[in-house]
Order: sequence, then C-alpha cells, then structure tokens
Amino acid sequence: MEYTCAYCQKHACHKNEMDNAPINCPTKNEKEELDEILEKYKNDDENLKIARASAEVVIDGYGAKPRVKEIVDFCKAMEYKKLGLAFCVGLSKEAMTFAKILKDYEFDVESVICKLGSVNRSELGIEDVGVPMCNPIAQAEFLNEKKTDFNIILGLCVGHDTLFFKYSEAPVTVLAVKDRALAHNPVAALYQVDGYCKRKIYPKK
Ligand code: SF4
Repeated sequence: MEYTCAYCQKHACHKNEMDNAPINCPTKNEKEELDEILEKYKNDDENLKIARASAEVVIDGYGAKPRVKEIVDFCKAMEYKKLGLAFCVGLSKEAMTFAKILKDYEFDVESVICKLGSVNRSELGIEDVGVPMCNPIAQAEFLNEKKTDFNIILGLCVGHDTLFFKYSEAPVTVLAVKDRALAHNPVAALYQVDGYCKRKIYPKK
C-alpha cells in the first residue's frame, strides 16, 4: 500500500473523523503498528521528554514566537546546558547573533563553521573552485567531543545536513536550511510552483 497522505484532502486523522478516512489511509490500516510506535514514546524517557517539551513549546504562545525563541524554550524545557551550533560560513553574521542570544539565555555554546579543517575539495575528487570543502562530519564529530546536549543546524546545504544528522550523537534541530536562491526560505518555491519558480523547478517544461 502506497502512503498518499500528501494528496489526502480529508485529513480525517487530524479531525478525529476516522470513519471518513480514505481507503488506503495508514492510520486506519496500520493500527497495530501505530500502537507499537506509541510505546516508543511511553517507554523511552528521552523520547517522552522531547515529545512533551515540543508540545509545550507549540502550545505556549501558539503562532506568536519566532523559531529562535521556540528553540530557546525547547532547550530550557529539556534542561539542556551545552548547545552545539553547526553553521554555514554564508550565515556567519546570523550565527554570531544566534550564539549571543543563546548565551543571553545562559546556555554554553560550542559553535563550528562548515569550513572546519580548511580541506581542499580535491581530497574528495571534487572540482577545486578555490574554496575549501564543507566538512559536516567534522562539525558533528567536534560537537560530539564537546559532549553537547543538543545541536542546532544553521544554513547547512542539502546533503551536508544529511551527513551532520548521520554523525551527530546529540539530538538535532534546524534553525534554518540553505536556499541560496530564495533567502533560505525554500517553501517559497512551492508557493510559486505555477509562477516565478516554475521554470526553475521544471526547466524542460
Ligand atoms: S493518515 Fe489517513 S486521513 Fe490522515 S492524511 Fe493520511 S490518508 Fe488522510
């Protein structure tokens, strides 16, 4: 059974109207598996704490707080002390501002830039364009060595963020993702898929 929640117009799961769910609805068809998954929240202290803290952050001041403040509030609710900030050189100013905010809220902050190690791209057989390669594995490993409680990504590229997630020992959230064309607001392309962004997304149409 293919999962097609992205095309579902009913959202019966969200409205508590399961009698109205589509025929291939995973909520309707996979009850046993979903019950087992629920136990992963209930039987794991960290999962339960994260789930409760994130729900509290959403409820408290719903829609009013910027994500920066939500991250602060989540980290306070989780009782994290030492935070890791893995940022892109292109967002250095933003990283400094964010690190200062975290300090203002009395977190210890370890920050590591994407160009950590200043390694030439040719080491990986990538064309040398005059700037060192991004090094997300080093970012994750350096924060692992510092034993950060929680890591925050700011502006890492597609794929570099993947490697960071893969190697980070601490749980991770994202303050912002990299989108060079849209001022780091990738969802704008979805709003404009039939307009300005159509040719960029479907160059051959
Ligand atoms: S879980 Fe079921 S009701 Fe909810 S969006 Fe998916 S298909 Fe629709």
